[in-house]
Amino acid sequence: MQNSLRTIFHVDVNSAFLSWSALKRLQEDPGSVDLRTIPSAVGGDVKTRHGVITAKSIPAKKYGVRTGEPVVKALQKCPQLITVPPDFETYRAYSHRLMDMLFALTPLVQQVSIDEAYLDVTELVSPEDREGAAALARSIRASVLAKLGFTVNVGISVNKLLAKMASDFEKPDRTHTLYPDEIQKKMWPLPIGELYGCGRATAEKLRLVGIDTIGDAAQADPAQLRSLLGPKAGMYISRSANGIGSTNVTPEREKAKSISNERTLSEDVNRDNYETNGIPVIRWLVQKVSDRMKKAGVAAQTVTLQVKSADFQRYSRQSSLPEATDSPAVLEDACLQLAERLLTGTEGLFSDGVPVRLIGVGVSRLSEKKMHQMDLFEWADQQQTEDEQAAAEAERRKRQEKENLLSSMLQQVNERYGEGTLIRGNPHISDPK
Ligand SMILES: [Mg+2]
Repeated sequence: MQNSLRTIFHVDVNSAFLSWSALKRLQEDPGSVDLRTIPSAVGGDVKTRHGVITAKSIPAKKYGVRTGEPVVKALQKCPQLITVPPDFETYRAYSHRLMDMLFALTPLVQQVSIDEAYLDVTELVSPEDREGAAALARSIRASVLAKLGFTVNVGISVNKLLAKMASDFEKPDRTHTLYPDEIQKKMWPLPIGELYGCGRATAEKLRLVGIDTIGDAAQADPAQLRSLLGPKAGMYISRSANGIGSTNVTPEREKAKSISNERTLSEDVNRDNYETNGIPVIRWLVQKVSDRMKKAGVAAQTVTLQVKSADFQRYSRQSSLPEATDSPAVLEDACLQLAERLLTGTEGLFSDGVPVRLIGVGVSRLSEKKMHQMDLFEWADQQQTEDEQAAAEAERRKRQEKENLLSSMLQQVNERYGEGTLIRGNPHISDPK
């Protein structure tokens, strides 16, 4: 069963959005302070109430600033916090450069979000060669830092789950291993909520029955987990807590054709409670979808609102936007207009007295957000370290010497056998005259 062990890396950019915003700022204004060295955060649109922290610097973390919390709340904890708006064009461009570098190493790269990817590097280092794996991880980190200017964590193991868990250990700029023989020591003491794929609700249920750590879940009766969480989730938690996961790195760059989220309502929505129970759900769904679009670096041109009526019929309305966007405000407007047609308007379901039990929001006709990639390439080239420049110069000199040697050989041959007897690029000499 263990005869096909793989070496799997998980590469994860440290505070990706913040690092990339910091680099962009330094690029535009080299004299400015590096955001990574001060309490700073990337915050949503501060003018709308949807403004939340999407990334924070390590100094900001020390003040208790948390990803996902409202900007306003973060500022209460840390009044000197510098916030910058997100810049997804820049993020997309850095992401591209990183993936290009990883794909240059091996074709077995599976990008799973804008700032993380799994690599199957078994061909480069065998699973037995732990020192080799660590050295490869170190060189990936060093070259990303030298060429692109930001740090990554690399997690090393034999499957994707363990590699992902490993890359999440101490940050930034670290390599961590989580081999099967290290699970008990490194993974089992962690709180159950830190197990990849264990959401807040699942963690809460597990804690209620006394399962506080990943180790508790690993040692729990799988049947108990299945009856508590349902067959699928129960099985997943039981297996993952024991370090069992997929080794299948499917080469791909993240590309979504559509993104949607839906939610079953705790209480059917009709005309009377639409304002209080319907609209907030639509807004919440729009925010979810918009967050996912931003993570994928895409904009959408089509918005769909879908509902399921109390008698389980699905209905939907779609609209095209004048231009592709990922703006929650624009998407929300479009959705609320669709809701008027689908639900509250004279021809809507509510007019027929039909309540709904589920609402869904989706976007499609996705396009990648435009990039200024050229600037970035030029800039990244300037970031070459002096060593690299010296190496490139030596390489160039060597090539020149080779060419000189070749052309003097060519000359000698021509002198001896006459002009044109040597076919260039194919060192094969025709009959001498
Ligand atoms: Mg990351």
